[in-house]
Amino acid sequence: MNDFVTRFAPSPSGLLHMGHAYSALQAFEAAKTVGGRFILRIEDIDTTRCRPEFERAIENDLHWLGLHWDEPVRRQSDHMADFTAALEQLRDLGVLYRCFLTRREVLSEISRAPHGTGEVYTGPQTPMSMDEETKRLQNGETYAWRLSLKAARAYLGEAWDGLFFTEQGTGPHGEHGTIMAQPERLGDVVLARKDIATSYHLAVTHDDALQGITHIIRGVDLFESTHIHVLLQALLGLTTPVYRHHRLLVDETGKRLAKRDQAATLHDLRNSGIKPEALRQNLLAN
Ligand code: GLU
Repeated sequence: MNDFVTRFAPSPSGLLHMGHAYSALQAFEAAKTVGGRFILRIEDIDTTRCRPEFERAIENDLHWLGLHWDEPVRRQSDHMADFTAALEQLRDLGVLYRCFLTRREVLSEISRAPHGTGEVYTGPQTPMSMDEETKRLQNGETYAWRLSLKAARAYLGEAWDGLFFTEQGTGPHGEHGTIMAQPERLGDVVLARKDIATSYHLAVTHDDALQGITHIIRGVDLFESTHIHVLLQALLGLTTPVYRHHRLLVDETGKRLAKRDQAATLHDLRNSGIKPEALRQNLLAN
């Protein structure tokens, strides 16, 4: 066994469809080819959408497909204190701020920003005064913890210009090889909310490092997030793994498969009598 470790990290908010099976199989086969390890991680921080029955269905479907993984499986909702600690680490560095803007106000700020890209929130013109913040907190106003790119850049100094990652797959615009991380493409992202201990960005970065993931194999829809993950790794003192983004499966009209569109689930395929070996061959030939 070598030190290659990869993972499949689904959110149990629905049943797996062919696109998930493709992704899981890419990671599983990559590990098998080099004698590495394959891990399943359940990313269920969004407790409003994730359900235990979907988690069980995911495990059953993947087992049926012939995949196996190291036990126990890490379930993110069991480890919220870890994410709070990571958030505190960032807060101690001075790179987080409380943002009290509503979603609508954020959109309006984005549209007014003179140098913005028109899509991302780049932070307030001037930081909120302590008095104002205290007043809002006392009023019980809700807020999000955002990562300040300005503060992160100041904290990292020259290291900011050395943020990069290796892409062994392909990004949406053919990106491959050594890629400069450009966190500004995502702006001041939300890392937690007043009542929600973590966001996807923080939880995934934390857990990939904790589990010693050396290769992240996932859909190209997550390529952009990598720009922020690499920054978080630098701030938290974590190693940057190698990335391998793969294409997404699409339906006959060219639209990507999605849970909400009722794309054929693995569950349906099983019931239709297809043999797992046939499905694997089909997916690997894709
Ligand atoms: N949990 C994420 C999802 O289901 C995937 C995380 C990742 O692979 O980075 O979309």
